[in-house]
Amino acid sequence: TLARHGAVPHRLVQMLRELQAELGWLPRDVLAQLAHALQRSQADVEGVASFYRFFHTQPVGEYRLLFSDNITDRMLGNQALLERLCLRLHVRPGQTRHDGRVSVTTTSCTGLGDQGPALLVNHHQVVTRLDEARVDEIARLIEARVPATEWPAEWQQVADNIRRPGPLLGESLAPGSALASAVARGPRLTLEEVEASGLRGRGGAGFSTGLKWALCRDAPGEQHIVVCNADEGEPGTFKDRVLLTRHADLVFEGMTVAAWAIGARQGFLYLRGEYRYLLESLEAVLARRREQRLLGANILGQAGFDFDIEIHLGAGAYVCGEESALIESLEGQRGTPRIRPPFPVEHGYLGHPTTVNNVETFCAAAHILAKGGAWWAAMGTRKSSGSKIHSISGDCTRPGLYEYPFGTPVAQMLEDCGASDTQAVQVGGPSGTTLSAMEFGRRIAFEDVPTAGALMVFNRSRDMFEVARNFAHFFAHESCGFCTPCRVGTELVVRQLDKLAAGRGSRMDVEQLQQLDVLMHATTHCGLGAAACNPLRDTIAKFRPAYERRLTSLHFVPGFDLDAELADARILTGRTDTHAHLPQTDDPAWHP
Ligand code: SF4
Repeated sequence: TLARHGAVPHRLVQMLRELQAELGWLPRDVLAQLAHALQRSQADVEGVASFYRFFHTQPVGEYRLLFSDNITDRMLGNQALLERLCLRLHVRPGQTRHDGRVSVTTTSCTGLGDQGPALLVNHHQVVTRLDEARVDEIARLIEARVPATEWPAEWQQVADNIRRPGPLLGESLAPGSALASAVARGPRLTLEEVEASGLRGRGGAGFSTGLKWALCRDAPGEQHIVVCNADEGEPGTFKDRVLLTRHADLVFEGMTVAAWAIGARQGFLYLRGEYRYLLESLEAVLARRREQRLLGANILGQAGFDFDIEIHLGAGAYVCGEESALIESLEGQRGTPRIRPPFPVEHGYLGHPTTVNNVETFCAAAHILAKGGAWWAAMGTRKSSGSKIHSISGDCTRPGLYEYPFGTPVAQMLEDCGASDTQAVQVGGPSGTTLSAMEFGRRIAFEDVPTAGALMVFNRSRDMFEVARNFAHFFAHESCGFCTPCRVGTELVVRQLDKLAAGRGSRMDVEQLQQLDVLMHATTHCGLGAAACNPLRDTIAKFRPAYERRLTSLHFVPGFDLDAELADARILTGRTDTHAHLPQTDDPAWHP
């Protein structure tokens, strides 16, 4: 590992990944050797290793099985399947079997919501469409010690499920065509074309892509960096998975266009650890583009246009989808979001001005350069130009990818995906918006309902309290722990909801949840904590009966009679006089 990467401290996360792939886990003495070689403290290296959920500092078995635990996996029965597998393998969920053969546990959404329930095997292989027969066969193969790489190939098939293609999903471009157009225009006019398109970032925040590139280009620095954020961790989202499978060329082309516009020579694709199985095919596309002179030195024969892309694999940390946390991870650190300003466009990867854009944004940028900014701006709405890809899952007959121009009503999307008797949709994943049936006429656009691209459908048989509780567990699981309001707040939310679920809650618990929402929204360090209570706020407001059903009584006010509790003490001390009693607030004798 050291020979491959050199003793470069900021390559630590990649080194840990490779070491773990070789050893199965990360023993302490190995971490100590690595720390010594990189001249980092052992505590520092162990701190990084323990931050990422896909790194293991304890043995986790020859077979490490991670069940995807998104709400849509639950709706498809993942819990019963996990229990069945554990029973067959004689292992407790979350623990490694005594003989070190296997461990079975859950992870957050694996980006396979359209073909769940799904699981990851040893972090580099997937099994989709789990059912009882597959689970039983998995148990048999593990007991027979059949390597996971020899398991049935059809289990690992990941369908693209493109149901409604638009320009991004349905149309391809010849490799190099967008880039040739950019080179012909020159960097300044390339940027102007992107600005004219009105393209806004597809990661959720919707910042103007042209403005971001211009800020990065104008920021002083020896080097400029382009980063593609492929850390698609929002539960219910899987569009980047398909773009990287079907249109990787376009993603890399868009990144190269950005490099041309801002003057970058180095690029990274930050691929979420759950998509490890895409790594080889992506590397092959990069290799081909190098052969075609679309990457490397003097791209398209343009003297001085040098740019290349490296793939950096994440390791199971949702927070790394936040751009400054992603940069920390690229630098071999824990994925803790940075204090901003300075923003990455001024001070990003290793202090260089860095533009970070989403996979879909780079695809769109490539199309824009090939077809023109006006073509893109003619689609969608005035403030939300172009088309948008949606990952639709949940209670519908045709889950998969749907591409619509911005401004499309939710009702049309529900009709197209075969949803019926729908009571709610979650737009934009857990950190997005819960819409009730009254709101299905609303339109997907930054000026109405913004989204990063997930749309989960819940029919009337679903319990919206349980949906909110699943999301609350997700945020508590994914909090990076850096700031107290989020670290403690997400845990308190989970406890309150679990208490309600156990039938021990009162109206006061619901009020406390609302107070936690206000507190966390105002005080957390990054967007994860600020958005963690969004589903809670929406479901309490729109599906209140789902909460009230669980209260011991609508009018119950919890209390504690301290005076009564002191009765034993009074008997022991022989005190029966008035002064041995505590004041009773509603007793006039105590308010002379
Ligand atoms: Fe980490 Fe949560 Fe604080 Fe963000 S809000 S920095 S995820 S603890």
